[in-house]
Amino acid sequence: MITDDFHVYDTTMRDGAQQEGLNLSVQDKLHIARHLDDLGVGFIEGGWPGSNPKDTEFFALAAKELELTNARLAAFGATRRAGAVAADDPLVAALRESGAPVVTLVAKSHDRHVELALRTTLEENLAMVHDTVEHLRSEGQRVFVDLEHFFNGYLDNRDYALEVVRAAMEAGADVAVLCDTNGGMLPHQVSDVVADVLESTGARLGIHAHNDTGCAVANSMAAVLAGATHLQGCINGYGERTGNADLVTSVANLELKLGRPVLPEGALADASRIAHAVAEITNYPPSARQPYTGVSSFAHKAGLHASAIRVDPDLYQHIDPALVGNDMRLLVSEMAGRATIELKGKELGFDLASDAERLARVTDRVKSMEQQGYTFEAADASFELLLAEEMEGARPAFFEVESWRVLAESDRGAPADVPTAEATVKLRAAGQRLAVIGEGNGPVNALDHALRQAIEQVYPDVARFHLIDFRVRILDQGHGTDAVTRVLIETTDGKDAWVTVGVGANIIEASWEALVDAFTYGLRRHGVARAEA
Ligand SMILES: [Zn+2]
Repeated sequence: MITDDFHVYDTTMRDGAQQEGLNLSVQDKLHIARHLDDLGVGFIEGGWPGSNPKDTEFFALAAKELELTNARLAAFGATRRAGAVAADDPLVAALRESGAPVVTLVAKSHDRHVELALRTTLEENLAMVHDTVEHLRSEGQRVFVDLEHFFNGYLDNRDYALEVVRAAMEAGADVAVLCDTNGGMLPHQVSDVVADVLESTGARLGIHAHNDTGCAVANSMAAVLAGATHLQGCINGYGERTGNADLVTSVANLELKLGRPVLPEGALADASRIAHAVAEITNYPPSARQPYTGVSSFAHKAGLHASAIRVDPDLYQHIDPALVGNDMRLLVSEMAGRATIELKGKELGFDLASDAERLARVTDRVKSMEQQGYTFEAADASFELLLAEEMEGARPAFFEVESWRVLAESDRGAPADVPTAEATVKLRAAGQRLAVIGEGNGPVNALDHALRQAIEQVYPDVARFHLIDFRVRILDQGHGTDAVTRVLIETTDGKDAWVTVGVGANIIEASWEALVDAFTYGLRRHGVARAEA
């Protein structure tokens, strides 16, 4: 169900794409648009047709193959040039011909920007806004007007800033969007300005906030509380500099804290998945500490808390994580007691509560392993293997390693694509003895290749596993013992990802352990039947 009462307007593909290092292809944009539509946003800003071939192509393709259920597409662009006729301006024509039902025009509302950047008169700027809005309206498009640098403009010359709002509305714009373009405002300022503009002009107002004061979401909330009914933002807070207001956080605040349903019913429960899916496309991993959708957003560590969490999770969480499609996670750490381990086990599908002795044994084992340098906070997959071993009596095993060896050489004269390391892995699986040599651009890479090639012969599923992250830490054990190396490996099968841990006297030993766990866990997760060794 779409109503026009409140606009949730996404600008990930236009303003969000201004983020340093973020590049979206036309296909990326089509994928992102579908995700945003699933989230139930009302408007998706697709880009600036006419300003570059990619954005023009996006609108052409979108018109043909993008089917949206909830959202309407918006084309972004500027008002006509000074002294030109709107209907004849080629950039205005590109907006008209984009096929988008909505056009969002960016307009100057700060007098100094008009004079210094636009190099025209204040009167001509008003005419540019008026003519362009009126022309596009007469062509049947809805028009929203983004008032660039509005807050600074208002503080410098309130009367002129208000005149621009009136010019846009009188020409037929639906919304005047007040933009904190340089992101320098604080919530109390936004609140005052929005309230005054609303009272002085009666215009429907929107908010477009940047995060330079760390207040993008807070400023957006302040604007809505002061009467704005159109909210702009980007998924995962993407954007130039410190980013735009995070759209999911803003929307979750509106729905869950302010009791204002702005998405289709139930859509918010998909928010975490969608935020992460978009991050896969942008290739910008979302922050683990991102409000609502972050991996750590509902992660609890201390043992003391954990026992209370078992009684009532609401005591330690501001919302039920399921409301935004996230999960509570318990971090198994040496600070944690039996309660955490029992709950973590339950989360992973193991009933540890029924056997106090076993629970004590697992807890002791985790503690002693942590002493050796292991960490299970992030390495859920290794923890699950440990639990499975305790519950099932033996460590899950799909192959039996006989030996492994790795050689690394340095040859500066060699071309970059010549492997510098070679690993030999010998193992038994499904009654076969497999001896495989793998090459790689480093010892760990060579080991990964050799182990993978060997196991793949018996378990073809392994071909889908890819190592996506590799983290090494040297731990100083102190007091007479040598330092040990801890390696965390993240592996994906293209759908899910899991983290395993290894500890050893050096990086190769530690990596080997984490690699074996990674393949073992992946096969177990895929429900692969174990072939007899
Ligand atoms: Zn912006």
